[in-house]
Amino acid sequence: MDCYVMTLFPDMIRSGLGTSIIGRAIEDGRIYLEAVNIRDYTASKHGKTDDYPYGGGAGMVMQAQPIYDCYQAIRKRLADAPRVVYLTPQGQVFNQEMARELAVEKSLVFLCGHYEGVDERVLDEIVTDHVSIGDFVLTGGELPAMCMIDAISRMIPGVLHNDESAEGDSLSDGLLEYPQYSRPEVWNGRQVPPILLSGDHAKVDAWRREQSLIRTAERRPDLLEKAAVSPKEREFIRNYLAKRREV
Ligand code: SAM
Repeated sequence: MDCYVMTLFPDMIRSGLGTSIIGRAIEDGRIYLEAVNIRDYTASKHGKTDDYPYGGGAGMVMQAQPIYDCYQAIRKRLADAPRVVYLTPQGQVFNQEMARELAVEKSLVFLCGHYEGVDERVLDEIVTDHVSIGDFVLTGGELPAMCMIDAISRMIPGVLHNDESAEGDSLSDGLLEYPQYSRPEVWNGRQVPPILLSGDHAKVDAWRREQSLIRTAERRPDLLEKAAVSPKEREFIRNYLAKRREV
């Protein structure tokens, strides 16, 4: 996948995504990442990319021209029109399903806003998806773009090695993942659940599934509505919650 990030702060993107698993995927050529500096495309002699908002009000607005020309320079290099994601608190909230859907695209372009945001006219002209990473406001779109690229990249075959599989991750089947434990067997007086040491894979799988159901019911009951949960499992959750209320 080719990812282009239009930003005023390209170093943030390069350093934020240049390490660990995503850094390795970039080095291996499984992901092509280019942080493109919007400022390089301004027609202003003084390198300006923002101006005061029409109608008054606080802050500055990123101007249409540099962003449009930056996008056109990227577009010329691609055979097909890419999806262009504008990171904005006004967008659809990003989730694992969206990550999976975007991971099949050949190219993605991300537009990071800053200050008060971006002139609406260029958004109307180039953006295909308005995406938020949550109901809070950040100073810029760089961190949200990095979150999206990280989550999307994990879905691309070969980015995770076998021992880092995304299978069973929280939300991969609509549920939160079961609790994980590693050595030693006893730490700080706390024992690893004995079933995990039993060597009985069927029992371990059943225990993990139950833990996933319990954890999701306790922490994110909203997810249960859409998750693939059998009637028997729904009954298990009801009984578990009823018992907990009695305690
Ligand atoms: N005035 C804008 C509004 O109310 O919608 C917010 C601008 S915000 C201070 C500056 C930039 O940060 C936005 O243009 C966007 O790119 C990014 N941003 C802030 N919060 C975000 C969020 N929750 N998700 C995605 N991008 C966000």
